[in-house]
Amino acid sequence: MRARKRVEGGRGDARGERRRRPRVAHNLARAVRQGPTGASGDGHGPGEPTLTVLGAGDAFASGGRMQASYVLRSKSANVLIDAGPTLLAGLKRAAIKPGALDLILVTHLHGDHFAGLPFLFLEYLYESPAPRRLTIAGPRNLENRVWALFRLMFPKSPGERLARKIRFVTLKPATRSRFGAVSVECIRTPHTTTDVSLAFKLTTDGKSLVFSGDTGWTEDLVPFSANADLMLLECTYFETEAPFHLNYPRISANLDRFRARRLVLTHLGREALRHSDEIDLEIAYDGMTLAL
Ligand SMILES: [Zn+2]
Ligand SMILES: [Zn+2]
Repeated sequence: MRARKRVEGGRGDARGERRRRPRVAHNLARAVRQGPTGASGDGHGPGEPTLTVLGAGDAFASGGRMQASYVLRSKSANVLIDAGPTLLAGLKRAAIKPGALDLILVTHLHGDHFAGLPFLFLEYLYESPAPRRLTIAGPRNLENRVWALFRLMFPKSPGERLARKIRFVTLKPATRSRFGAVSVECIRTPHTTTDVSLAFKLTTDGKSLVFSGDTGWTEDLVPFSANADLMLLECTYFETEAPFHLNYPRISANLDRFRARRLVLTHLGREALRHSDEIDLEIAYDGMTLAL
């Protein structure tokens, strides 16, 4: 409690604190109701789109959490968002067939967000049927970087056999793209300097998800959150200030400005996890399934 005062005190008055409480309580109540459901098979659920957290961890797998990977499943499509190195373990623990993916979106070219793709390709070559058509979309240089990594990791494997089935698409910041029934809006986030880092807003079956990817603070996140059913926001640090990642005080100070129906923190680092009982927001964990 002491640290919570330190974090939130001075950044909002008592009214702000009171205003936030019901939303947090509501979120927690939902989390309790939904429980650690995990995913239940590789098919689409009959209802609303769901997001399954395969890996809620950071690059260091802090707290033993697997690295960034999330699957959005709707009646229309199965979308993998980021592909951390632990991707295959995450898919198999959640009983999601690797071949059931229609679209893969990559926020940025850090290994904890895309280095699982060579393992997925290997899976498609030798273990599981590949999707008939697979689109992989992300920032510029994604295609080159993925194939370079694949050739480094598995130099004798016939990646070209798979390449015919995969379409790479470059997503530019401040654009909206459509992949079948899934609309993907992108903004650039302050995280990498030469490479482009993106945050996504996915809309499918009338529901929308905002995923921050890795990012420092940017005002653009506020309007981007508008009307989202779920916002998944990185919270690497508890109190450390950095221009390329978010911390809890910054998120806390802007909580009332976000316009998402539900906010869940993810990508918590060692420091944030150590203080997780002082964080008054929902925190993602591996295997968590969230209804949009
Ligand atoms: Zn990361
Ligand atoms: Zn990163």
